[in-house]
Amino acid sequence: MRRSIIAANWKMHFDMERAVEVARQMVEKVKSDSEIIVCPSFVFLDRLSGIFLNSQIKLGAQNMCFKEEGAFTGEVSPIMIRGVGCEYVILGHSERRHIFGENDVDIHKKVVSAIEHELKPIVCVGETLSERNNGKAFDIVERQIVSALDGVDLDKVVVAYEPVWAIGTGVAADNKTITEMHKFIREMVGDVSILYGGSVKDTNAKELAEIEDVDGFLVGSASLDAGKFSKIAEEFDKVKGGK
Ligand code: PEP
Repeated sequence: MRRSIIAANWKMHFDMERAVEVARQMVEKVKSDSEIIVCPSFVFLDRLSGIFLNSQIKLGAQNMCFKEEGAFTGEVSPIMIRGVGCEYVILGHSERRHIFGENDVDIHKKVVSAIEHELKPIVCVGETLSERNNGKAFDIVERQIVSALDGVDLDKVVVAYEPVWAIGTGVAADNKTITEMHKFIREMVGDVSILYGGSVKDTNAKELAEIEDVDGFLVGSASLDAGKFSKIAEEFDKVKGGK
């Protein structure tokens, strides 16, 4: 189902004290018509779950193992993250693909497993700069989507288009690039929420929200500041809130 979503990806930031502080600030500041999701590091999930309990903020993990349990040293299972209150899980983030070598098959297995365990996957797709420069952006995104969502009930997923070259650079992709790619993704996934991610800030959120097929944002750096994150949600809502 297509709905407005603003999601925070805290990546590997904060210690417990700071995570709790920012989570509390978010509860206080974020008032939005959109669905708000915060994805902290695994070790903060249990604590933050209590803080978000009576608020509009939903909890997500940044990754998970496709297996339920067993001899998988260092992994965290869907049952575990569901058990501490997660409703969402980010899967296939470019840092997982490019730093930790996750491939399309791995990501598909995780998507299937997340849905089996009643978690909604936020499936990240996006091309690198060299892939874009070589005219392969659409092929790459198509391959990532077809593979990740093979046989999957599309009602149960969210897609995030995150061009790798726009992540963490401070410069978002331009309007034309986002418009074209979101339209392309829309043709593949229909009524699924399609988020944009890559240097979304309080200062560019309104302009990005105006792009037709942008249903929300996945926010990295700017989500580490509750004031900036709540302003992003506010700017988005001014354009598309509640849709
Ligand atoms: C991300 O890592 O998902 C992301 C979009 O990061 P940033 O907002 O910092 O570009």
